[in-house]
Formats: sequence, C-alpha cells, structure tokens
Amino acid sequence: MSKKHNFSAGPCILPQEVFQKSAEAILDFNGSGLSLLEISHRSKDFVAVMDEARAIVKRLMKLGDDYEVLYLGGGASLQFAMVPFNLMKTGNGKAAYTDTGTWAAGAIKEGKKLGTVDVVGSSKEDNYSFIPKKYTVGSDYDYFHCTSNNTIYGTQMREFPKVNTLLVCDMSSDIFSRVIDFSQFDLIYAGAQKNMGPAGATLVVVKKEILGKTGRDIPSMLDYSLHIAKESMYNTPPVFPVYASLLTLQHLDKNGGIAAAEVQNEAKAKLLYDEIDRNALFETFCNGEDRSLMNATFKLLDDTRKEEFDNAWKAAGISGLNGHRSVGGYRASMYNALPIESVQVLVDVMKNLN
Ligand code: PMP
Repeated sequence: MSKKHNFSAGPCILPQEVFQKSAEAILDFNGSGLSLLEISHRSKDFVAVMDEARAIVKRLMKLGDDYEVLYLGGGASLQFAMVPFNLMKTGNGKAAYTDTGTWAAGAIKEGKKLGTVDVVGSSKEDNYSFIPKKYTVGSDYDYFHCTSNNTIYGTQMREFPKVNTLLVCDMSSDIFSRVIDFSQFDLIYAGAQKNMGPAGATLVVVKKEILGKTGRDIPSMLDYSLHIAKESMYNTPPVFPVYASLLTLQHLDKNGGIAAAEVQNEAKAKLLYDEIDRNALFETFCNGEDRSLMNATFKLLDDTRKEEFDNAWKAAGISGLNGHRSVGGYRASMYNALPIESVQVLVDVMKNLN
C-alpha cells in the first residue's frame, strides 16, 4: 500500500522517520530488551526522554529559564479550564478573550465558570471568516486569551496584540510552524496532535513568575506550579506521546528548525491558495489576509461537480480533505510534515477539473 497524501486536520501526518523510530521503541527501547510501553516512567531512560522533550521546546522557541515546559494529559481542551484556574483571580477575576472559532468559544465557556469574561473581539457574526484586530486590552484584566490558528475555519493570526496584561495563546494547530517571538507570551499551550506528535500529550509553556497569584486553592492535577515542581511527572505522564513528540521535535531541529519549516509552509500554502484563486470552480471561506497557512478551507462553487472532484482526489491517493462538519466544503491541512509534493498532487487534481 503506498503512502497517502494525508491532509487530515489532526491527528495528522508526522514525519515518516518518527513513525519508524516510534515503532522501533515499542519493540525494543534503546536496545534495553524492553518496550517503551512496559518501562516505568521513573526509569532513567524515560526521565531522560522527558528532560530532553522539555528542553528542546525551550531551545526551538529560544526561551530562557524564566519559562517552564510541561507535557500534560487532557488535551488542549483541559487547558481551557487550567488557564483560568491558574490565572483568574478569585473574588472579582476578569479576563479578555477573542472569539475566533469553535475552539476559542470553548475556551471562553470554561473561563466564564471562574470569573468575568469580556469578548473584546469576535468574528462569530461573520461565520468566523476573519481575525478581529481593532481592540485594546487594559491592565484591569487578569489575562488575555487568543487562538493563533483556527483549525476549523481556516484563519490565522499574523500578529499578536500588545496587551497590558498577561498574553495567553492556544497554539494547538500552528505551533512550530512559523518564526514568532515566543517571549511575548506568558503562557502557550498546544495539543500535540498536529505539528508536534501524536494525540495524548499537551504542551504547556509558562512563565514561572505569573503563577501563584490567584488566591485560589487549585486542585492538584490542575495546578501548573505543582506539575512544574514535579518536573512534569506529578502523575504518570503520557509516556508514548511524549516520546513521539520528542522525536518529532528532534526531526524539526535537524531539518533547519522553525525557520526552515516556515519557508516550506509558506510555499505549500501559496501553491494551494494560488490555485484556489485562479480556478473559477473554487472559493475560500476566509478573508485573504487572514487565511491560515496550516488549514486552507475552501468550497466548490458548483455543487454538481462534487462527486467528480471527490472521486478525482481520492483516486489521486489524497486522504482527509473533507471540511469540518460545521463548515462543510473542503479543508486541506498542511502541517509541517506534509510534503509540498502532496499539495502539488491536490493542485493538479483541481487544475484537471476545469
Ligand atoms: N484548540 C485548537 C486550536 C484545536 O485545533 C483543538 C483541536 N483540534 C483544540 C483546541 C482541542 O484540542 P483537544 O482535542 O486536544 O482537546
């Protein structure tokens, strides 16, 4: 069976080398005669994995020792709750959020359970087709939360606002895809299952000095400070996803780091968007300047061509192109590991439809 051109939105394509090395570690980890799946998370070999998985994130992001890195369970969705638990003050806590899609709205919902949430920018009324930009966030807020890339709708923040409070970002679907000054953020989180690895681990990068200021007795498993004190081993961590994430980040590092990935990602997105814009049969869902380099959402203008198009991309070995059920149409997710050749195959299918 030949490898598919995998445009899945996540879990998604990872470097082939990561699949290979993960498979080897499951059979025999480091030549130990034991599987990665059967050793203690407290074993010397796994502690080394966790240490390096935490360290490489700081190296790739060019962050200093004022930041801590955690790998937690619970998905990015648990972070929707952990952020307010750790940052929203008790009593009259108040946070600002932008509402830019389904996941942002999920974060807002959890924030509201612990304090006041003001939505300072929203594109909800316009089907989340753009990134709101003209807003200010004052120092009376405990933090500001945004979503860097809206996986379902296909919009992406190009710039991050200067706010007078803590800057928190859900980077689940574009982390490590482009060069950013990561030091502008106080807290970054991301489910691993796009650019970082398989599902099951969630990355949290947090500036230590912002913690411990809410006046709240935080449940242990939700307390960043406790996870930091235990070096991301307060309980049994998601051992395999952490290992595969380490392999994914090592692969990124070896291949030129974030800067090289960005060049590739821009080339892939340009190739596809140029075809969508050129081809009279297709149209994107989003505003030009806010289109995501990771998830391109588009539709056929003439629905009677749907069967023909679907058959053509499937015959070309493409997988995972259907849009999210709440948006419809198509979504081509072009994460770091997707080769530009796969995008070319899709573009050729679109060209041939004319
Ligand atoms: N935020 C974003 C931007 C996402 O794309 C997703 C899921 N794809 C989530 C949050 C939720 O992540 P999880 O399923 O890991 O909870």
